[in-house]
Amino acid sequence: MGRWSDRVTEHREEFLDILKVSYPPVGRTLLEVVRVPALIELVAKGADRSTATAELELPGRPSRRVLAVVAPQRTAGGSVLVMHDVTEMRRLERVRRDFVANVSHELRTPISVVLANAETLLDGALEDRERAGEFLEAIYRNARRLSSMISDLLDLSRIESGQLTLQSGPVQVSAVVARAVQLVEKAAGVKRVSIENAVDPSTTVRADEKALEQILVNLLDNSAKYCGDGGMVAVQASERNGMVRVEVRDDGPGIEPQHRDRVFERFYRVEPGRSRELGGTGLGLSIVRNLVNAMGGKAGFEPANPRGSIFWFTLRAAEPEDDS
Ligand code: ADP
Repeated sequence: MGRWSDRVTEHREEFLDILKVSYPPVGRTLLEVVRVPALIELVAKGADRSTATAELELPGRPSRRVLAVVAPQRTAGGSVLVMHDVTEMRRLERVRRDFVANVSHELRTPISVVLANAETLLDGALEDRERAGEFLEAIYRNARRLSSMISDLLDLSRIESGQLTLQSGPVQVSAVVARAVQLVEKAAGVKRVSIENAVDPSTTVRADEKALEQILVNLLDNSAKYCGDGGMVAVQASERNGMVRVEVRDDGPGIEPQHRDRVFERFYRVEPGRSRELGGTGLGLSIVRNLVNAMGGKAGFEPANPRGSIFWFTLRAAEPEDDS
C-alpha cells in the first residue's frame, strides 16, 4: 500500500484491533479500512518520500493515541504502516505533569504565609509582643501543614512505587480500631466527637497491622474533622465470602453525589478552604485507597441514612489456622 487507493496486502491481527476493523482488510483500499484522514495523509507522504512519522488520535470510544510510522518498501513496492499504541504512556505523562503542578500549587500557599509572617517579624513586629505571638502562631501552623503534606506525599509515593513492603498476617481488627480511636481522640482534642468501636473481637483480617492502623486513623480523623462538635462516629465490621468489610460511619455533612467518586483522588476536596482550615492535605483518602488496594481489597463511599457518610473498605478474612 502507499496511496489511499492502494490495497492492503498483509496485516497483523493487532492492526484490526487498533483500528476497530471487524472485516478482513486484505484486498480493500486503504481509505475503506483506515478512514482516519491524518493517517491516510501520512501514508501518502511515506509513499512519496522516505519514512514518515506522526502521532495522531484515532477516533472512537475511548479514543486512542498512536505513533504511526510509514516506511516505503523499495524492493516489493508499496509501503509498511506500523502503529504503536501510546495512549497509556501519554496518560501517565499527563498524570505526572498534573501531579507536579498540584504539588507545587499546594506547597506554595503555606510557604507564602510562612515567608510573609517571618518578614513582618523581621521588619519590626518582633518588638510588639502580642502581635508577634500571632505571627509566630501562623508560621507554626503553616510549617506543620507543610510537614504533614510532605509526609503524606512520601507515604503515597512509597505505596505507589511498591517500595513499601507490607507484612501480611492475621490482625485482630477491634484492637487496631481501639488504637486508632485513641490516636484520633488525642489529636481531635477539644472537639467533642464520640467514637464507638463496635467491631467484634473475633473479627480478624489478613493485613499489615501498621497499614490498617493508618487507614483507620485517616478515616476516623476525617469523620472527627468534618462532623463538628457532638458528632457520632461508629466503626463496624462484617464478614462475607471470605472478605471482611469495615465501615466507618458518621452523622456529619455527608458528600454530594457528584463528589463521591472523586474524593479518593489526590488533592480532591469538596471544600478546599474548609479542608485547609482543618489542617487537611487532600491526600488522606488516596492513601486509604492505595493501602487497601495494596492489600488486595477495595475502598469506597456510601451515604449514611438519614445523614452522614459511610467510608468502607474490604480486606481478606484471616483463615482460622492463619498464623503466618
Ligand atoms: P483532606 O485532607 O482534605 O481531609 P482527604 O483525602 O482525607 O483530604 O478527603 C478528601 C475530601 O473528602 C475532604 O476534603 C472532604 O471534602 C471529603 N471528606 C472526607 N471525609 C469526609 C467525611 N467523613 N465527611 C464529609 N466529607 C468528607
